[in-house]
Amino acid sequence: MATGEVRGAFSLSEADAGSDAKALRCRAMPDGDTYVIDGTKMWVTNGERAAIVALAARTPEGITCFIVEKDPGPAFEGIAVSRHIEKLGYRGLETVEMTYTGHRVPAANVLGGPEWLGRGLHAILSSLEVGRVNIAARGVGVARAAFEAAIHYAQERQTFGVPISSHQAIQFKLADMATRLEAARLLTHNAAKRIDAGERADVEAGMAKLFASETALENATEAMRIHGGYGYTTEFPIERYYRDAPLMIIGEGTNEIQRIVIARGLLARYS
Ligand SMILES: Cc1cc2nc3c(=O)[nH]c(=O)nc-3n(C[C@H](O)[C@H](O)[C@H](O)COP(=O)(O)OP(=O)(O)OC[C@H]3O[C@@H](n4cnc5c(N)ncnc54)[C@H](O)[C@@H]3O)c2cc1C
Repeated sequence: MATGEVRGAFSLSEADAGSDAKALRCRAMPDGDTYVIDGTKMWVTNGERAAIVALAARTPEGITCFIVEKDPGPAFEGIAVSRHIEKLGYRGLETVEMTYTGHRVPAANVLGGPEWLGRGLHAILSSLEVGRVNIAARGVGVARAAFEAAIHYAQERQTFGVPISSHQAIQFKLADMATRLEAARLLTHNAAKRIDAGERADVEAGMAKLFASETALENATEAMRIHGGYGYTTEFPIERYYRDAPLMIIGEGTNEIQRIVIARGLLARYS
């Protein structure tokens, strides 16, 4: 997976279970030394090309996480890619709906082993802590790209005989974009350092994800304003940043859920 030869997917969400992950309905029933999986998962990024899927399903003990090994391709013994989801942005990777019909997974593929039966959500939620730092880093990347495009363009584009970077209205935008970007980067480094040190980072990862993703969205929007009409065309990269940024306020826990996680963590620390 690290070399990119094998793709992985992470499959928690369903049509009626996004923020409310506990509502998931996909079932995995024990049958001898296998589990039989039935259900439909939604929003599976990498789902079609992935060789390995970390799948959350309901077993008699509760929610359990399985490692599903599938051949690359549209269907494999009871697994079908039932729909390709057309998206606003983030088009470098496919996002699909996957249907499991009597697909058998060896009992040995329970993630973490039998003692983790019914504790899959706990495993998944703790992995989301790292996932949120990942999203924060992506947010910083989009915010930086938008800022750099804007500051270069502002010095090239002339109106009223001067570069637009001479107008104070544009300077204020650039100052705000760079300030937000710096803050987002520091929050992300801080959360990553805590995770590297093996410390709990629920609050810090949530803050980094929340702030960096909002920064990506704001910087993409401001970069579009600074580019004027050209920012709206596909000749410049701004419209792509503008389309890619919103996913980061939704994925890996929406920013509303992020605020709940941050507040819960703060209340526990200050109780
Ligand atoms: C492009 C894309 C790729 C994705 N890839 C994956 C993937 O690979 N694997 C995977 O498992 N999932 C994936 N997802 C799913 C993603 O994690 C969910 O879309 C996300 O968790 C939100 O769930 P939902 O869409 O059901 O929205 P809902 O949960 O229905 O939320 C709708 C709105 O209500 C708000 N809301 C919900 N509950 C509360 C609450 N308690 N308090 C306050 N506000 C609340 C939300 O913040 C949001 O604003 C992907 C989504 C997208 C768009």
